[in-house]
Amino acid sequence: MSKFVIELPPVVALPVAGTEALFPVRRVYCIGRNYAAHTVEMGHDPDRDPPFFFQKNPNNLDPSGEFPYPPHSSNVHHETEMLVALKSGGTNIPLDQALDHVFGYAIALDMTRRDLQEEAKKMGRPWEISKAFEHSAPSGRIHPAAEIGHPNSGRVELKVNGEIRQDGNLHQMIWKVPEMISYLSEYFELAPGDVILSGTPAGVGQVARGDSMEASIEGVGSLVVRVV
Ligand code: MN
Repeated sequence: MSKFVIELPPVVALPVAGTEALFPVRRVYCIGRNYAAHTVEMGHDPDRDPPFFFQKNPNNLDPSGEFPYPPHSSNVHHETEMLVALKSGGTNIPLDQALDHVFGYAIALDMTRRDLQEEAKKMGRPWEISKAFEHSAPSGRIHPAAEIGHPNSGRVELKVNGEIRQDGNLHQMIWKVPEMISYLSEYFELAPGDVILSGTPAGVGQVARGDSMEASIEGVGSLVVRVV
């Protein structure tokens, strides 16, 4: 008999491209304002202040291809991001060893209840209500680094109903993937199953029910998500 007093919650896992295998997710870290043009569009200076992070819940990741429009918002934004999946972790990871911890990369959408986020910012409140809601991170298949390498350049694009909304490039990241891993590992103990959403290029904007979001990152594939 199980020693758990309630049924065990399901393990959250993302599909690995080209296989039936799954990548189990432990934690989700997200970096804020990691592309200069997006930082400017959000009303801030794109300087080299230390990076900042927030978290989503593992079970906010959703590979289903559908994004249910969330309640209590009339301004839900798309943010197209490269997801970095870690196969190992640790603390105080040196910069030159950071990429050794990466299993692979995927596309994820950091969906945001922007109206609630603006309110939270004004009040000095935390962001969870705007960022960590149900289905808030539609995600694609993970492509192993063993197959695609470690993309540090490549077009990041999002079309909504066929119209280009976001058009950036991975090389525009202010904090690069090894820097994010190394920095996070100074504050948290990273572990296998942790994922990092690496920030969005400019062009974030609203979606509505019925919209089709088509995201692509050169070298990492594509992801189609319908807003329902
Ligand atoms: Mn984001």
